[in-house]
Amino acid sequence: MGRRIYLKNQAEISKMRAAGRVNARALQEVKAMIRPGITTAELDQVAYTVIQDHGGTPTFKGYPGPYPYPATLTVSVNREMVHGIPSGRVLHEGDLVSVDCGTTLDGFIGDSAFTVGVGEISEEAKRLMRVTQEALEKGIAQMRSGNRLGDVSAAIQNHVEGHGFHVPLQYTGHGVGREMHEPPQVPNFGTSGTGPRLRKGMTIALEPMVLVGTSRTRVLADKWTVVSYDNSLTAHFEHTIAVMDDEPLILTSL
Ligand code: MG
Ligand code: MG
Repeated sequence: MGRRIYLKNQAEISKMRAAGRVNARALQEVKAMIRPGITTAELDQVAYTVIQDHGGTPTFKGYPGPYPYPATLTVSVNREMVHGIPSGRVLHEGDLVSVDCGTTLDGFIGDSAFTVGVGEISEEAKRLMRVTQEALEKGIAQMRSGNRLGDVSAAIQNHVEGHGFHVPLQYTGHGVGREMHEPPQVPNFGTSGTGPRLRKGMTIALEPMVLVGTSRTRVLADKWTVVSYDNSLTAHFEHTIAVMDDEPLILTSL
């Protein structure tokens, strides 16, 4: 932290909207393919093709980490919260799948994620998914000029914990623009009335991650995949949002 928050002008926000739209298209096609029997690598290939066909590049591919990230998507199943690497793994009826994708277009990035059930899923999985999506909506509603960042974080935390679920301590939302991770960090927990003031032109990837049993996580031996510490179910929704004069603008919708 300490680095400055980059405010985007209208032309830059338009470019981010274009990147976000391509990203949304890729995720839409992926979502339509999710069914029992498909592999996570097949989903990854579809996303890659859509992004390429629209003149974009997959933001995640080559992203620095323990080793350069090897794929277009992260596909995280059940206890896996984020950063699952696509592979020959087959999806099964009842799985809860979180797909995250980033697209770079004309120098700007859109970053978005959704969770969906494979076929019929448990009541608990449905509730977890619904609460996580609602938490994102509650956070977005706070993304107004003059509010503080803590208002956004608190709205997410209050909704999640009010339903008896947990937010992770170590993984957060973030500023996004020319870089995938810009200041500020946006934790999924916080205190209303604290933190930097939101200003027009701030562009933030808001991403509630929610765990059924614990706020603790650990990383698997592949060094990327983050799972709940107690192996309980997890969900993840994300949109890239711009703070505007009035209503927040969702940059990663279709
Ligand atoms: Mg993301
Ligand atoms: Mg993100």
